[in-house]
Amino acid sequence: PQTRRSSVLLSPQSRLAQNYHPLPVVASTAEGAWVTDVEGRRFLDMLGAYSAMNFGHANASVLAAARQQLERLTLVSRAFDHDLLEEFATALTDLVGKDMMVPMNTGAEAVETAIKVARKWAYEVKGVPADTAEIIVMSGNFHGRTTTIVGFSDDPDARGGFGPFAPGFVTVPFGDAAALEAAITPRTAAVLLEPVQGEAGVLIPPPDYLPRVRELCTAHDVLMVADEVQSGLGRTGTTLACEVVGVEADLYVLGKALGGGVVPASAVVGDAAVLRVLRAGQHGSTFGGNPLACAVGLAVVEMLRTGEPQDRAASLGRVLAERLEPLVGRGLTQVRTQGLWAGLDVDPRLGTGRDVCEALVARGVLAKDTHGSTLRLSPPLTIDEADLHFGLDALEGALAGLGA
Ligand code: PMP
Repeated sequence: PQTRRSSVLLSPQSRLAQNYHPLPVVASTAEGAWVTDVEGRRFLDMLGAYSAMNFGHANASVLAAARQQLERLTLVSRAFDHDLLEEFATALTDLVGKDMMVPMNTGAEAVETAIKVARKWAYEVKGVPADTAEIIVMSGNFHGRTTTIVGFSDDPDARGGFGPFAPGFVTVPFGDAAALEAAITPRTAAVLLEPVQGEAGVLIPPPDYLPRVRELCTAHDVLMVADEVQSGLGRTGTTLACEVVGVEADLYVLGKALGGGVVPASAVVGDAAVLRVLRAGQHGSTFGGNPLACAVGLAVVEMLRTGEPQDRAASLGRVLAERLEPLVGRGLTQVRTQGLWAGLDVDPRLGTGRDVCEALVARGVLAKDTHGSTLRLSPPLTIDEADLHFGLDALEGALAGLGA
């Protein structure tokens, strides 16, 4: 029956409305960095659910926390407090050096929350006339799929046909501090950016860019909002990608790995001076901060508090960079890495990113293409070094097989 399910899922008869163009793998079980499909084939997971699986599949402490909590209490909504909510809020805010948080569920929902907070802060604290605040966003951004968020995307697939869109967003080129400075007006509430653009292909701005954004935001009384849904929680070799360049944002948006690969969990974390603009009855979510998410989130924060996942990302990240850089000119045209995270541009003469992903599947490795010719690698931070080499050997082999 499992095999039958696999063929239906991947066929034109699928009942799933969105077409993700899945690779020909139907996952069934997983442990650590390895996924087993319905036919019993094993694959090294070099995608790690786009950084949602930072601590590995079936992570022992995540599972223990989840199992224990499942038996105890899973949901009361926010109409009542529960005994883990304040503990989780304290642990997470301490981890990132802030003092308040708003718990939500998905990354997009937390980005929406940050937008609402920034606008209300501009009105109540900065003195921008009501409903006129502007938020500056970046070219190539990806912040989620809600109508407000896709309205300021410049990806035609994300936007096309889904309008009309919410006003109040101004786009500037990512990495260009002069353009950002020119776009700031007295109505600017916030600059919203990914410190490293994930979906765009792991685009890393010049090292002086984020510090300059911080300076401009401070000088013009504008909130710096860092969407660390994909970059945060260990991936870059630090708890937050902003830390790599010594920058502190006003608001951090966290998600993906916060749920330990088990539950959807996201959060906006910042200082009380900003987040206090949300008062009772003004924002909320049935599932945000639910007991199961808090229990798992506490286990995640506990792992990050040891610094071990970050250190592994940094040291394995050096291996990743050392192995990928020689492939430039040998199948790849560019490689970008930060921590255990890479964006690779495939030489178009060899084929598409999809061709490389299919060749990788044949060699027992899972990765995902984006924008035609780019591949992203974000394996669990718990991956064995020998397994990482296996994945990179497979990549070399796949490129060679395509004629590199
Ligand atoms: N922000 C960033 C930086 C992301 O990479 C993503 C997801 N790829 C999101 C937000 C949206 O998260 P979700 O899919 O959980 O809504």
